[in-house]
Amino acid sequence: FPVENTRNFSIIAHVDHGKSTLADRLLELTGAIDKTENNKQVLDKLQVERERGITVKAQTASLFYNYEGKQYLLNLIDTPGHVDFSYEVSRSLSACQGVLLVVDANEGIQAQTVANFFLAFEAQLSIIPVINKIDLKNADPERVEKQIEKVFDIPGDECIKISAKLGTNVESVLDAVIKRIPSPKAHCRNPLRALVFDSTFDQYRGVIANVALFDGMVSKGDKIVSAHTQKTYEVNEVGVLNPNEQPTHKLYAGQVGYLIAGMKDVTEAQIGDTLYLHKQPVEPLPGFKSAKPMVFAGVFPIDQSEYNNLKSAIEKLTLNDSSVMVHRDSSLALGAGWRLGFLGLLHMEVFNQRLEQEYNASVILTTPTVPYKAVLSSAKLIKEYREKEITIINPAQFPDKSKVTEYLEPVVLGTIITPDEYTGKIMMLCQARRAVQKNMMYIDQNRVMLKYLFPLNEIVVDFYDSLKSLSSGYARDKAYSVGKTICERLKDSLPRQLFEIAIQAALGSKIIARETVKAYRKNVLAKCYGGDITRKMKLLKRQAEGKKKLRKVGNVEVPKDAFIKVLKTQ
Ligand code: GDP
Ligand code: MG
Repeated sequence: FPVENTRNFSIIAHVDHGKSTLADRLLELTGAIDKTENNKQVLDKLQVERERGITVKAQTASLFYNYEGKQYLLNLIDTPGHVDFSYEVSRSLSACQGVLLVVDANEGIQAQTVANFFLAFEAQLSIIPVINKIDLKNADPERVEKQIEKVFDIPGDECIKISAKLGTNVESVLDAVIKRIPSPKAHCRNPLRALVFDSTFDQYRGVIANVALFDGMVSKGDKIVSAHTQKTYEVNEVGVLNPNEQPTHKLYAGQVGYLIAGMKDVTEAQIGDTLYLHKQPVEPLPGFKSAKPMVFAGVFPIDQSEYNNLKSAIEKLTLNDSSVMVHRDSSLALGAGWRLGFLGLLHMEVFNQRLEQEYNASVILTTPTVPYKAVLSSAKLIKEYREKEITIINPAQFPDKSKVTEYLEPVVLGTIITPDEYTGKIMMLCQARRAVQKNMMYIDQNRVMLKYLFPLNEIVVDFYDSLKSLSSGYARDKAYSVGKTICERLKDSLPRQLFEIAIQAALGSKIIARETVKAYRKNVLAKCYGGDITRKMKLLKRQAEGKKKLRKVGNVEVPKDAFIKVLKTQ
């Protein structure tokens, strides 16, 4: 296919602004799928995506379109909108020359619109703003057009106003893709240079790599080399995604497609890798900044006999999702398991759900934490740890205060867009979360964009909910409420013993919460009939002493489901 008639583009937007729905219409218009009532987010193939109504994984589709008498090949990549998956967006963008930036005509520019715009802008892609949902009663496309002018400095008349749901004006989107996005700068005559921008794992066929060809061609039977591992493979199959895999004879420079080459091992198909032909080495393409996990949680099999199953499930799923960081871990209570790093809480939940749904593995997930750093206080310690700063991803490994000069915590720059009547309340909420204000700007007459530097720990779990409900009053230190909840849960889950058990949550040496599990009282007086009160007193006293001793020496056997109850996030 001629390179000059090829266009590679992504659809990017805030969550729910209509990316996947627009993709449906583009697939229909170009005949890739039949036009029926039932086409709802057809590119969202994963069960988790369909259930949650969100896109988690970027999806590619190659479309053919006739425009002014010429046949064009349009490679579309639908991307997720949620902040946790923005690494999927940036990877997709590396295979593209342009983007459709979709903005909801009612909601206007939202935080992820801004973030995604900058990803495309920094990648120097052509940006086509698309104002969607003009059919909504409260739609105000003119206002959104002005926001786009103000925030992104894009002339308002470049905005295309559509309804993806009804299909209104969607042809002009395709026309703009052809007119405004340049064709890839790729040359078939050069030696093969293919970027692996995504990969999925198929149980039967092994690794399926999504590739963008920057130069050359590749076909079945070719010998290819991974620049990363220097391993050689024979190509078994190449093809385009239409949106399902459709084998072709060849893939050409400028195309986006898939390639299967007998890569079996999880480490073989590195995302960001460059593939070239055997004996025709090329300069590797710039890879990707690897995704940085920011939320860590322990993952354990519910039963240790399932350890190996879970291990292989995690290995396979991490191939489909290489942004998950995997460390081995073990816990006295839960046995052998892993500590996994995720990009955010939604990412963690989605990973867990995929383990269950796609690999039939059920797991115990512990409360998520963020990574901290500790700066060590002495040369001796630095030698011992072989580092000045140690990263702590597991709270159980927090080094003692005496060893540390300071602790460092991760911070994030957050963008909040809000109607201005809430600005005051939101500022209070941010302050309560130890955030530092960086910027404030009106994006239209009554909408404000705020930028804050947040300690990640303060926002990772429930900030979004608080922001939505705006119930401030967070004056109390969070440690107290967390400590109290855990103590209460333990109290409810621990079986009673012969002695009283105190459950305490401590912050350093300070006790911040306490609950008591009452003792069973064995009736030591059962055999005392009649009235010798002193004897009764003696027996009770002995019982109390015995209990005291027991409490001191006795270990409370904590049953496993108590741990599960306490550690489970819900
Ligand atoms: P994505 O998260 O950006 O991929 O958004 P989706 O395509 O999943 O759409 C989110 C919701 O908006 C769905 O319920 C769609 O039916 C709805 N939606 C998408 N486009 C339109 C539109 O043009 N008009 C209306 N009224 N709803 C739309
Ligand atoms: Mg979507």
